[in-house]
Parts: sequence; C-alpha cells; structure tokens
Amino acid sequence: MRISDFGIHSALRNLQSAMGWMIRDYKKEAKGLIEGRALFDAPMKKYTSLKVGGPADCLLFPENMKELGKVILHARRKRIPVFILGKGTNLIVRDRGIRGWVVSLTQGMKKVRMDGEFLEAEAGCSLQQLVQFSIQKGLAGLEPFFGIPGTVGGGLAMNAGAWGAELKDVLHSVTLMKEDGEVVERPRSRLRFSYRSLALPPSWVILKGCFHLKKGRKKEILERVKFFSEMRKRTQPLDYPSAGSIFKNPEEGPAGKWIDEIGLKGFRMGQAMVSDRHANFIINLGKATAEEILHLIEWVERRVYEEKSISLKREVRVVGEP
Ligand SMILES: Cc1cc2nc3c(=O)[nH]c(=O)nc-3n(C[C@H](O)[C@H](O)[C@H](O)COP(=O)(O)OP(=O)(O)OC[C@H]3O[C@@H](n4cnc5c(N)ncnc54)[C@H](O)[C@@H]3O)c2cc1C
Repeated sequence: MRISDFGIHSALRNLQSAMGWMIRDYKKEAKGLIEGRALFDAPMKKYTSLKVGGPADCLLFPENMKELGKVILHARRKRIPVFILGKGTNLIVRDRGIRGWVVSLTQGMKKVRMDGEFLEAEAGCSLQQLVQFSIQKGLAGLEPFFGIPGTVGGGLAMNAGAWGAELKDVLHSVTLMKEDGEVVERPRSRLRFSYRSLALPPSWVILKGCFHLKKGRKKEILERVKFFSEMRKRTQPLDYPSAGSIFKNPEEGPAGKWIDEIGLKGFRMGQAMVSDRHANFIINLGKATAEEILHLIEWVERRVYEEKSISLKREVRVVGEP
C-alpha cells in the first residue's frame, strides 16, 4: 500500500467513525425500555393497509399508559423522533422507511368500557370493535363508522367520517398525553376538529375517546349498520390494498367525480392504479412501491388542476424518509 492510499483509508475510517456519532442507533436506545413488544427494522408494508413502505427502525407496542409514558419521556429527553401509528389505514410510508420510533397502541391499549350512554374506548381499539360493542349494548350513533378500518386514536386524529357523519359528532371528550407525559382530558368543545383533521400540538398522543350515544333498538341499529356496510361494499374496491380516499373532497364536489370525469379510472403507474370502482382510491395491484403510488398521486393532482382548475388536497398522510 502506498503512503497516499494509507492516508485515504485512515481518513475514510475517521469519517466513518464520525458518521457513527451522527447516525444514531435508535434500536439500541429502545432495547429493554418496555415489557411490551419491540420490533427492529419492522417492514411498514406489514403494518399499513396499502402494503407499501420500508422499515421502521423500531416499532414499539407499549402494554399500558405507564409504558407509553416511559417511551414518550425517554424519546423527548433523547430527542428521538416518534410517530404514533394506528392501523396504518390512512398512511403512505415511503420506501426508505421511518427513522426513529414508531409507537402502536393496538396491542396493549384497546379496552372499551360502558357507563350508561357513554362508551369510553382506548385509542388502540379498532373502530370496528367499538361499533360492534355499541350494537351489543343497544347504543345508537356509531353506525355510519362501521367499515372504517382504523383505530379509535386514528379515527379521532383524522376526524374520520362517512355518509355525512363525523366522529366528532358523537364525541364527548378525549384523554391525551402531552409531550411531557402529563395526562389531560379535553371536552369536545375545547378541541379543534375540521374536515378529516384534529389540530393537536406535535407529540401529543390520543389515549382514549369517550363517546355519547343514545339508547336504541338493537334490530334498528343492526339494520342501519347493514345498510352502510352494503353501500361500502358496492362503492369501494375492498379486494385490493388501499389507504381509503386519497384526496379530501373539495368545495366543488367529490374528488372522485373530477378524477373520473377526466378519464383517469384504471390509470396505472407500475403496480399502482386509480381504482376503476372508486376514482378517489388508489390501489396496490400487488407489488407497488410507495414511489409509484406517490407519482400517481402527483399525476392525478396535475391532471385535475389542468383540466378542471381544481387543487386537490391530500387526505392520506405521507410519512418516512424522503
Ligand atoms: C378501505 C378503506 C376505507 C376507508 N374508509 C374511510 C371512510 O369512510 N372515512 C374515513 O374518514 N376514512 C376512511 N378510511 C381511512 C382510514 O381508515 C381512517 O382515516 C382511519 O380513521 C385511520 O385510522 P388508523 O388507525 O388507521 O390511523 P393511521 O393511518 O395509522 O394514522 C393516521 C394519522 O393518525 C395519527 N394517529 C393515529 N393514532 C393516534 C393516536 N393515538 N394519537 C395521536 N395520533 C394518532 C397518526 O399519527 C397519523 O397521522 C378508509 C381506509 C381504507 C383502507
């Protein structure tokens, strides 16, 4: 080896060790932190309904509120980025995955409790499970949400809605964890909901939602659930992975109508396709990448703007390393 080669090699080694300081090992920092499951390099395509997305450094499943508090406080102290995952049904995770910690409440925090006409559900409980519980108890009000495939936490964060109803309409209060671990309860009147969104300070976590329902006849509740469920089956491409509606409906009318009118139903980029059943859905034909989905979304946005002068806004959330 020549002297100059040696110089280059040692400079490279120095650079690598300097990078080691900069590229943090978020996995190591999570080891042994909680009793609940911790997965490393977790492929996010397994945890999202669209089935795309690279690995998350670390996916944590705290078993209870205490463990969640530990995660949140540790992450804050060590400046570790945290992303709260529901069931991943409104998400596009980029192909390079997520740096830092992804936290899911779906294993340890999913209890539902009834108190008269009030149902209190932990954030990791599925909306489906909540609606089924309300049917069993003869409580009406949640029927339109049957078939929305996310969690209570995700539903509240997105102010999920269907058939003219929004989750906020039946909400009484929400319990939240602040970034310093303090737990607070907020009545609906103190929360800022809008179309498919709830404005929360960054790093706050939804722990529970308390819903105020009405006593009803079980048979009638079931009939309404059946009606909404059939409408969903008729209009949505439920046989393929998707993230639900990609775009919010603009003031001018349903996003799907404009996309359909300019002939984009069935339009493909690689394995990503605008559904031919519901033009506001993009489906994964099997092996789509997040990049293909995102290119297709950009293409639809551009074409709708060019042809209809309408700026579509995204309902779906995009996360992960660009
Ligand atoms: C087939 C299909 C049909 C759908 N139909 C509808 C529909 O009719 N109406 C509708 O509104 N949506 C619909 N969706 C979209 C989606 O199901 C909803 O937006 C759902 O509420 C998202 O919940 P999630 O648990 O999957 O959240 P995720 O997709 O995991 O997360 C969404 C956002 O919520 C945040 N979040 C999740 N949990 C918490 C928490 N505990 N605290 C703080 N933030 C949190 C996440 O950080 C993220 O920003 C549909 C999706 C699919 C795939």
